[in-house]
Amino acid sequence: MDLEQHYDVVVVGGGPAGINAAIAAGRKRMKTLLIERYGFLGGMSTAALVYPWMTFHTKAGKQVIKGIAQEIVDRLKAIGGSPGHVRDTLGFVYSVTPYHPEKYMVLAMDMLQEAHVDVLLHSLVVEVHIENRCIRSVTATGKSGKIRIMGKMFVDATGDGDISYLAGVPMSKGREEDQKTQPMTMMFRMRGVDLAKVKRYMLENPSHFYPNTLWDELKDGSVPLSAVQGFYPQWEKSKLPIQRDQVLFFTGPAEDEVLVNCTRVQGYDGTNVRDLSQAEYEGRKQVLMVSDFLIKHIPGFERASVSNVGTQIGVRETRRIVGHYVLTKEDVVQGRKFADAIAQSGYPIDIHDPTQRGVSFAFIEGDGAFDIPYRCLVPQKVDNLLAAGRCISTTHEAFATTRLTASAMATGQAAGTAASLAVRQNIRPLEVNVKALQAELIADGMVLAG
Ligand SMILES: Cc1cc2nc3c(=O)[nH]c(=O)nc-3n(C[C@H](O)[C@H](O)[C@H](O)COP(=O)(O)OP(=O)(O)OC[C@H]3O[C@@H](n4cnc5c(N)ncnc54)[C@H](O)[C@@H]3O)c2cc1C
Repeated sequence: MDLEQHYDVVVVGGGPAGINAAIAAGRKRMKTLLIERYGFLGGMSTAALVYPWMTFHTKAGKQVIKGIAQEIVDRLKAIGGSPGHVRDTLGFVYSVTPYHPEKYMVLAMDMLQEAHVDVLLHSLVVEVHIENRCIRSVTATGKSGKIRIMGKMFVDATGDGDISYLAGVPMSKGREEDQKTQPMTMMFRMRGVDLAKVKRYMLENPSHFYPNTLWDELKDGSVPLSAVQGFYPQWEKSKLPIQRDQVLFFTGPAEDEVLVNCTRVQGYDGTNVRDLSQAEYEGRKQVLMVSDFLIKHIPGFERASVSNVGTQIGVRETRRIVGHYVLTKEDVVQGRKFADAIAQSGYPIDIHDPTQRGVSFAFIEGDGAFDIPYRCLVPQKVDNLLAAGRCISTTHEAFATTRLTASAMATGQAAGTAASLAVRQNIRPLEVNVKALQAELIADGMVLAG
């Protein structure tokens, strides 16, 4: 060990959940550290080029996610890094939120510094030291060797639940019946796309596209072309060796730019480095195949070229904690409300099939939003740990909505706020007064149903 440091709150993982958790804790005057394995922040939003953020609204257009997440969107807008929330052309959700990944990375750092959060980049946490059901320290490894960091409270925002797993928290992974996870996707961007031509082709051939597309609004220009899903005949004819049934891409951030979400790598475990090695290779091979296909067969792509490929393959699903409540599909679909809600979401269940070509959906009933209970953030067996983002406590099906970025940001803010309350009162997260937590979240701009 060449360095030992002591913090009130240690957040591991600098993705959307960890950034918001650390900002929340820092703003509560906690001595806070954010640890991230890469040399930049943003998680899947930057490392894997996942885009755009979804969704801050219910299907009917009520905004249910605000707080720090909304501040980030507002500040990105102010620096030309996002147009803000725009209508989803597909009519699948109400809004999508395009953003510029490079601007998000820097803005996240700015906001962390303003909140007096220390940030340790290039540091992968590989060990956890437990005493009496509490994490005393974590060990990160990097160019400086091993660094041991002591903390009073820890937030696991690693997406994969690394900290919880290392600490011995009961975990689940993938589908309940066979542990198979949603596939991975290597995202890539193309520039030089003639989007006016794409739109013309769509309006002339609506049967080749997702049926719920907002055709009237697209025609009269009242909604922008934010997403395109279809080109079914071209995709079928291509016979590409990819387990996907259509073309899907999103427009922006530049006017001639798209983000392509078409590759699919199945059967690998995102917490196994041998599997990940093979998945990265297959993903990059698929990028070359799909981009070549788009250029040759899709109107508007004739002069396009690949401008960026994810630094890593996008990993949708790995480990989740088993917390004091496990959110289920029924909770989501019924739009269930909980007395200990710490966030809401209006995003439907959206499962990329672990073994087949398709995607299955289940939409939210009632007022179009479901609650995420605080107990989903509180793991079993460890007394000074909270989870945020992808690795909170859900079933495989409920995970298929809580995994979305806006929800990850919201559970991040909730975890950072709860950790601060626990430190201030010297209590376990499970003992946090939920009413007081909810009052702080609302005072800090979050929206809760009750
Ligand atoms: C292919 C794909 C498409 C998607 N499409 C969309 C979409 O269109 N819209 C949308 O909103 N969401 C989408 N998602 C979901 C969304 O991107 C993620 O679920 C979201 O980023 C989760 O945020 P997070 O902070 O929990 O985790 P992550 O974004 O995974 O961030 C975790 C962070 O922790 C770091 N980390 C991990 N382990 C360690 C460790 N041991 N030590 C230190 N650091 C560590 C990682 O480097 C990373 O920065 C998609 C995901 C994928 C993979």
